[in-house]
Amino acid sequence: MYDPKSVKAEEFISHEEILNTLEYANSVKDDMAVVDSILEKARDAKGLSHREASVLLACENQDKVNQIFDLAFQIKQQFYGNRIVLFAPLYLSNYCINGCLYCPYHRNSDIARKKLTQDEIRAETIALQNMGHKRLAVESGEDPVNNPIEYILESLDTIYSVKHKNGAIRRVNVNIAATTVENYRKLHDAGIGTYILFQETYDKAGYEQLHPTGPKHNYAYHTEAMDRAMQGDIDDVGLGVLFGLENYRYEFAGLMMHAEHLEAAFGVGPHTISVPRVKPAHGVDPLSFDGGISDELFAKLAACIRIAVPYTGMIISTREGKGVREKLLRLGVSQISGASRTSVGGYVEASEEDTRQFEVSDTRTLDEVIKWLIDMNYVPSFCTACYRAGRTGDRFMELCKSKQILNCCHPNALMTLKEYLMDYAGAETSEAGEKLIEKELDTIPKEKIRNLVRKNLANIQNGQRDFRL
Ligand code: SAM
Repeated sequence: MYDPKSVKAEEFISHEEILNTLEYANSVKDDMAVVDSILEKARDAKGLSHREASVLLACENQDKVNQIFDLAFQIKQQFYGNRIVLFAPLYLSNYCINGCLYCPYHRNSDIARKKLTQDEIRAETIALQNMGHKRLAVESGEDPVNNPIEYILESLDTIYSVKHKNGAIRRVNVNIAATTVENYRKLHDAGIGTYILFQETYDKAGYEQLHPTGPKHNYAYHTEAMDRAMQGDIDDVGLGVLFGLENYRYEFAGLMMHAEHLEAAFGVGPHTISVPRVKPAHGVDPLSFDGGISDELFAKLAACIRIAVPYTGMIISTREGKGVREKLLRLGVSQISGASRTSVGGYVEASEEDTRQFEVSDTRTLDEVIKWLIDMNYVPSFCTACYRAGRTGDRFMELCKSKQILNCCHPNALMTLKEYLMDYAGAETSEAGEKLIEKELDTIPKEKIRNLVRKNLANIQNGQRDFRL
């Protein structure tokens, strides 16, 4: 029985409710009165139910699809403005005991295995700091012997402790396998930002086939991980589906139900939603799965997510190339990775491709990505202020829902961009960035804040760092 408040995976992600949702969406997708009424509700920017959002996703009327895209753009502007937050993944270890069919880390893979030592993590962190990164997502395979929680905790300590020149990693998000409440509490105490775990697929039968062996085979344990993370005091959790494995409409409904569940059970929805698509990798052919989607459909999915959960950040990685990223930035993405290496140790030894997880499509340097964003009139942001000021979970959501995010985050974005320009940018990026900052300063509504930001920018110019509102 479907129950968004239930603690049981099969009740808050009810297979029956998803099938009913898809049937309902199919039955009304050509009824323009229904579609219009959902679009009308969506314009309030307070979100949609999984049923309503699934109707929009199913609708094929071109005029309505264009309205969906326009609305997603407006909501994006309303909640996030033109800021784009930057991060990079840091792969600690590719040892893994799971059997995930889409992942080259699976236990029978002949991929070269590597686990970073603390000295190597220090070197990777310095390499990332030297590019200008301030925010990382730590990634690891699941292996209680090679990558126990103690190893992850020690690695987090190491990353936070490295201060090279003006560099600092100020927020580390963590993407490791589902674990216990006790371990989530340890991660919380170690000062992680968001705990990220992709569901891969919400379809239980498909999930069990795609994860034939290892701890990850357990659908309920994996699906209930965010509940345990929240019980372990982690306020910010990041959901995601690996699109391309199973039917995207099923996944979308499941994802929306998962967000509704977190809101119903904990009073706070997901902090972020990631939209990875399965990519070619060692021994992995994306075409061998059932759920491939075109770039156009992918964009529609992102737009529907933006409309359905306006206050949830959306992340796109370098799995996608420049063109797709450009399109999705407009439709709702608020965070992107830049200059990513998916190999273990790949930031120090760029040629070490034999340990990598999947092929990246966007291979540009961070400076090229920053310049590209500035040229499109986005403000690249290295801000980590909310998390460091304790504005997590419901406190962050309140800020976001009341649209105050713009008054607070925009100035922070400008100040962190200034730091980047001073310490890491090439000449062209620097010139374009300074002009952008000058222009964007005028958009800060409160004179008092505008003056404070001007003062801080001058202080950054004079060598001081780490200002935030
Ligand atoms: N091991 C952790 C777990 O089991 O959730 C997470 C770390 S894993 C390095 C991060 C994510 O990479 C996985 O959740 C999966 O969605 C994604 N991934 C695996 N193989 C992929 C592929 N071939 N293409 C794109 N993404 C992939």
